[in-house]
This record gives sequence, structure tokens and C-alpha cells, in this order.
Amino acid sequence: MGMRELIVSKIKDGTVIDHIPSGKALDVLKVLGISGGKGHRVAIVMNVESSKLNKKDIVKIEGRFLSKDETDIIALIAPTATINIIRNFEVVEKRKVSLPRVISGLIRCPNITCITRHEGIETNFEILSAGLRARCSYCGIELSYSEFVELILKQLGTRT
Ligand SMILES: [Zn+2]
Repeated sequence: MGMRELIVSKIKDGTVIDHIPSGKALDVLKVLGISGGKGHRVAIVMNVESSKLNKKDIVKIEGRFLSKDETDIIALIAPTATINIIRNFEVVEKRKVSLPRVISGLIRCPNITCITRHEGIETNFEILSAGLRARCSYCGIELSYSEFVELILKQLGTRT
């Protein structure tokens, strides 16, 4: 088996996340809340040649069909990602990721006086229309896009 066949080897049922910018595969798994310990077989292929991107990563998750709501969060990390849903070795659905308008319950608000930190309220961040800032719906604190992504990765990275 040549390298090419190894890279494109297929899964029977599940989700393939393609066109992830090189080096971002682990962050993608992190925002999806998928760790190796939950029983799904996950294959990560990094630094593959790509016609669209210079190099790309690919993540294959066997036995799990991720919904649009679940995968849109990936747009924060990998806006170029494409989602392929595989059933019986065939791609039955192909879609792009798009930034969600709101992100609920994913992370704590960084503002320590925010009501969500004191009354057990689920956080809610609005992605502002330019897509470059996120705002807490409760206290109004605004974060730049990169601060927001950094906060997500930091909090999700320490959650397990
Ligand atoms: Zn807040």
C-alpha cells in the first residue's frame, strides 16, 4: 500500500473532517469535546498535501455522525474545514462549517463579576456580525476573536 492509499483509507460509518489548516487537528477535536478516552476510534492525519491549502490535517471519527450544530463550532478553529458524513463507505453528506451566531454553555465568562459565574446560569456568547468579536450576553464583555478562541482552548484543555 502506497502512502496515498494510506492517507485516504476509508472509514465505514462516521464523520470525516477535511481541509483543516495544518496543525489544527488536535484543537478541532478539543472544541468538539472528543478525547481518546470516550470509545470512538479517531484517526488524525496531519500535514497532508492539499490542493486548496498548502498542507492540511484530516480527522476521521468512526461511529459518530456529527450534526451541523456540533460541527459549526469548528469554524472558530478551522474556517476552511469541510464535513463529510460517511455511511457504508460512501459520502452521504458534505457540508462546510459556518460560524455559529451564539455559543452557549461551552466556556466560562472571563469576567469574574459576571452573573453566570455566580448563579449557575449557562453562558451565552454572541458572535458579532463582523465575526471578529464575541460578546457575553449577560455582562456585555467583548473579546476579540483570537482571545475568545484562546479562552475556549484553554478552558476545554483543562476540563478533562
Ligand atoms: Zn459575562
